[in-house]
Parts: sequence; C-alpha cells; structure tokens
Amino acid sequence: MNLILMGLPGAGKGTQAERIREAYGIPHISTGDMFRAAVSAGTTLGQEAKRYMDQGALVPDAVTIGIVRERLTEADARNGFLLDGFPRTVPQAEALEAMLRDIGRAIDRVLYIDVPHDILVRRLTGRRICRQCGATYHLEFNPPKNPGVCDRCGGALYQRDDDKPETVETRLHVNREQTAPLLDFYRARRLLAVIDGLGAIDDVFRRLRAAIEKGDR
Ligand SMILES: [Zn+2]
Repeated sequence: MNLILMGLPGAGKGTQAERIREAYGIPHISTGDMFRAAVSAGTTLGQEAKRYMDQGALVPDAVTIGIVRERLTEADARNGFLLDGFPRTVPQAEALEAMLRDIGRAIDRVLYIDVPHDILVRRLTGRRICRQCGATYHLEFNPPKNPGVCDRCGGALYQRDDDKPETVETRLHVNREQTAPLLDFYRARRLLAVIDGLGAIDDVFRRLRAAIEKGDR
C-alpha cells in the first residue's frame, strides 16, 4: 500500500496519518522527519541537504528525491508507506514517479482530505495561548472555562500572529495554489481520491479506509 496523503493546513492530516499508520502498519513519512533523520544520520545526501538548509536555501529536488528514495527502501517501508508533505510540486511528483518505477514500485492512491475554506479558517484561528504558563486552548475544541482566562493559572490568553485571520487566509491561499496542480496531476493518473474531511475523526477515517481499499486501478 503506497499512499500519499494531502490536505490543506487544518484539514486533520496529522491525526488521520496516525490512524492509517496504525491500521495498515505502514510508516508515516513526513518530509520534515525524513530530512531531520537524514541530517542526523549524516548520510551523504543528508549532509548535502544540510548545506542548503544552513544557507537558508531550498534543497534541490534531486537531493530531496534521493533522500525519499533512501527512506522508502528501508525495511519498514517494504510493505508500503504513507507520504506526507511530499511531493509539493508537479516536477517533484514526476521525479517521484520515475524513482518509484526505478525501484519497481508505484503509488497506489493519493488521498486528499477536503475541508471547506470557512471551516479551515475556524479551526486555524481558534487557538489561544496563555501568556503566563503557555497552556494552549481552542475556542471550539478545547475552550477555557472562562473566556480569555487560563484554567490552570488564571493568566490572560492571547492569539499568536500565525493564527490571526489575515495570516491564516494567506497561508491557505498559498497552499491551495500549490496543491491544485498536484491534484490535477494525480487525477489525470486516476490515483486521486477526494475525501470529505468534515465530521468526527472516526467518520473521516472510515471514508479514507474505503478509498484506500477500493483498489480500482
Ligand atoms: Zn496559564
């Protein structure tokens, strides 16, 4: 089961990735973790990636795909994997396709968790943090007992700049623009499954599972 998981910030990707990992016994491979592991293991590609990152530069696709290749050929990924955060662009998707072909594998399904814009905004702007103790709350999912006041220490709650509506709107816009061509790419290959991301975690997971097991290719 070789899967790619996609979704905009706030779509619940992290939670569902964990569920898929548990249910199918395949590793959840996020780009961030993969880079960190390669860098700390000191592999040739890891060192190369580090040189770019230290300069604040983008790691070239050829280096990234090499790191992905190393990761996907590790023992725990033999029966499958769940890629998260990669590919980000169509050239990366093409490179991934070629690399997988090279190692005799292919993507089975691309899962896109679809959540309406206004819901994403509500999820992403709801976080509040205590100025004194750093405890985090969410206006909808984990509200404090008294509005604006920390349950633990009585400190004042504030909203981080990253969680302000303008910032969230921009982040979503950039992500959406970046994601659209990738969705087209995988739709054209009949690999894309668009999953309704509304409702309880269990319900979304059931839909994901159905899409994974449909296997109509
Ligand atoms: Zn507090």
